[in-house]
Amino acid sequence: MNYQLIYKAANSHEAHFIQGLLKRRSIKSQLLGENLSIAIGELPIEAMQVDILVPKNQLPESEKIISNYEKNLSLDNQDREWKCEKCNKLNPFNFDICWNCKQ
Ligand SMILES: [Zn+2]
Repeated sequence: MNYQLIYKAANSHEAHFIQGLLKRRSIKSQLLGENLSIAIGELPIEAMQVDILVPKNQLPESEKIISNYEKNLSLDNQDREWKCEKCNKLNPFNFDICWNCKQ
């Protein structure tokens, strides 16, 4: 299957969140440039770009999801984070599931 770059996430945290959004619509994305040790949560998340790729035939739908995501980003969400009950990580208000433990 042909994959196409759709978004450059600022870091692994953001990339995984977007991957989760896409997955809910049955879009299998791929992440490029991610450090494995960050993926398993051993290291602090640093500013490191991760490329998100989606199948070409799902590009239009993926673009809609990304643009919704960017709209949410532009809202002021500083004081609307929520804490995961399982792992105590802070999640932005627009995260439905914990980015860390997926609960
Ligand atoms: Zn959690």
